[in-house]
Amino acid sequence: MSKASDITKLLLEALQSYWGYDSFRPLQEKAMTAVLSGRDSLVVFPTGGGKSLCFQAPAVCCEGLAVVVSPLISLMKDQVDALNACGVNAACLNSAVDHDEQRRIENEAASGKLQLLYLAPERLVTERTRNLLGSCTLAFFAIDEAHCVSQWGHDFRPEYRELAILRKHFPKTAIHAYTATATETVRADIVAQLRLEKPEVLVSSFDRPNLIYSVARKTGGVGQIADVVKKHKDESGIVYCITRKSVESTCEALNDMGLSALPYHAGLSDHQRRKNQDAFIKDQVNTVVATVAFGMGIDKSNVRYVVHAGMPKSLEGYQQESGRAGRDGLEADCCLFYSGRDYGLWKHMVSQSESEGGLDGALESLNAIYRYCGSSTCRHQSLVEYFGETWKKTECGACDVCLGLLEQVDDPLIISQKIISCVVRIDQRFGADYLSLVLHGSKDQRIVQNGHEKLSTWGLLADQDRRAIRDWTEQLVGQGFLEKMGEYNVVQVTENGWRLLKGELTPRLSKPSTPSSKKKTKTAAAESWDGVDKGLFTQLRELRKDKATERQVPAYVIFNDASLREMARIRPSNSSTFYKVHGVGEKKMAEYGEEFIRHIRDYCQSSDVEMDVD
Ligand code: ADP
Ligand code: ZN
Repeated sequence: MSKASDITKLLLEALQSYWGYDSFRPLQEKAMTAVLSGRDSLVVFPTGGGKSLCFQAPAVCCEGLAVVVSPLISLMKDQVDALNACGVNAACLNSAVDHDEQRRIENEAASGKLQLLYLAPERLVTERTRNLLGSCTLAFFAIDEAHCVSQWGHDFRPEYRELAILRKHFPKTAIHAYTATATETVRADIVAQLRLEKPEVLVSSFDRPNLIYSVARKTGGVGQIADVVKKHKDESGIVYCITRKSVESTCEALNDMGLSALPYHAGLSDHQRRKNQDAFIKDQVNTVVATVAFGMGIDKSNVRYVVHAGMPKSLEGYQQESGRAGRDGLEADCCLFYSGRDYGLWKHMVSQSESEGGLDGALESLNAIYRYCGSSTCRHQSLVEYFGETWKKTECGACDVCLGLLEQVDDPLIISQKIISCVVRIDQRFGADYLSLVLHGSKDQRIVQNGHEKLSTWGLLADQDRRAIRDWTEQLVGQGFLEKMGEYNVVQVTENGWRLLKGELTPRLSKPSTPSSKKKTKTAAAESWDGVDKGLFTQLRELRKDKATERQVPAYVIFNDASLREMARIRPSNSSTFYKVHGVGEKKMAEYGEEFIRHIRDYCQSSDVEMDVD
């Protein structure tokens, strides 16, 4: 056997026995091999791509201590809990650890028993830590969230700059950097700041195939949001709102409908915020309604939906927030509800504040996401292309466009010509609302005052729903045939708009979907629920919650959703079948096997369901 295949074998054995996984995610094998071969590396995977395992698995396969730098105490704790639950000897040193515990951890590290040590950057550079590490056999350094080292990233942390000394003090120890931020500038900066030497650079695709994206115009009220929450009854999800006020009102409305949810925003006390976040992580509440202040430092893997109750201000933000769904690789819904008013609100806010990239940059980001909302191009394609990647598939099978949830109108050219000629008739001097009133044939006072009820385009779309007219106008803006100008968002015709009038270009216009129009496609969702006994799944989820409460760890640390679904699908009656379940390693087998099997057996006997199916 060659050396390379020896390493692969060793890693696969570790994945199975500690984590209960039977294969690598894309590029994980390369990233792990880089670690085991002792060269520096820079690994860029999207959220949920499986970065942590890239340093955790090698750490259990080699001699010496792996030192992991992580920016947030909560993140460290969750990772350490999860590792301990898999039987890996890991610990963290931070301000929350008391003196005795600190001693114990230091002794374990020095005696070579500890496999991974998590540290905050400011602690790593202290003399005490340096001495400690000097007395240990070091395997490698892993710098998590490495973009924090760069001023060009979205989360610069000055403490990370100090990490430059690692190379100086530990010249023989390899350094590995991990991040989800892909821009070239940030990447180059990480390499420079951390003094990486000829690093192996691994960048994986930024597409998240298990996320099902959809975008719809807001219809008002909380109905659209509630539909998503109800669809995911008994599952975790996040609802993002633009303002604190809308967090409060949305949360209240959901609770009034019997859908229990907790709020999270900067206006709540630290204590209350922590409590609500904790309840979410431990699966004690399913839904959190929050501003974008929520989410950083949350590793929860079983978030099944992320709703945006308003349009975010950039695709970067959207990517990050929606990316918190489906980290476990199972399908998750990302639903965005937007309105022209959100656009106006953000435009006002960014004009008021001096933002990093300047006003032009902020407006450009805003326009980009607004175009995304109104477009009828595959969402996965739009997102990866926006982030500079080439899209190679034709249909993604996981967005509203490709799933046919957006029903196309039959005569998009004629409808859009009517709309655009009306824009011309009203001298390109009015907003989208006014435009739709004229097209719909309204006798609103303003219209009569302006004499616009006499125009040939007045009432040209009287047979259509006014909201649909408004919607199509936004879609034409999104596709670049119209644009909104100035403080009042006056609708004007672009060069492509004039070409459309001449019939040289045709837009795509979609109607808001009606349930009957939905194409019956086998989505990722249907597939991963195939054969799963949902009653059993719910019971196992309860059992998992009890275990998590008992051990004071997040529920997904016990087993993630993928594992529970597989248990409820295979319904193992004995330990050898149970061990085959995704996410069951040796430690979890020993710790939970018997009880979970007993539970499954009881359920299957009382409901007369077959066991050991595969
Ligand atoms: P990231 O740090 O890149 O956001 P994580 O390391 O948290 O991602 O991994 C996301 C989820 O995927 C975790 O629940 C992790 O256990 C799981 N995972 C990672 N690698 C694998 C694998 N090879 N097989 C199965 N599950 C995996
Ligand atoms: Zn698609």
